[in-house]
Amino acid sequence: MLITIARFSFPYEAHIAKSRLASEGIPAYVVDEHTISMQWLYSNALGGVRLQVPKDFEVIAQEILNVELEATLVEQQGWDGNICPKCGSRETEYYQFGKRMAFLVFIGIEFPLFPTSDGIICKKCGSKNKI
Ligand SMILES: [Zn+2]
Repeated sequence: MLITIARFSFPYEAHIAKSRLASEGIPAYVVDEHTISMQWLYSNALGGVRLQVPKDFEVIAQEILNVELEATLVEQQGWDGNICPKCGSRETEYYQFGKRMAFLVFIGIEFPLFPTSDGIICKKCGSKNKI
């Protein structure tokens, strides 16, 4: 019996987690990736792309996926993220400007016509900045 241990918006995220588990010898399966790849609006309806493991591996798989590796990676490879221009915080994440309008147009005519641009959002002060 397979147990869902994680859900992702995009298939590549599930495959990264699956590879992490495979490196520890844990069998894992990505479910619904092709359906969501064909029609990404189904992602919310289906609960996202699911990562499943056999029931016997459920606990250890959760523990492996919950290990935070960011500090180790920064130590090994250095930090190359974005700094918030307003407050100088390193706690930023990717943000896509124009995504909401593209989504609405996509709903209306099933094709995203509005251009989007990349940016960052600061988790500390909440400012959104184009990069
Ligand atoms: Zn900030």
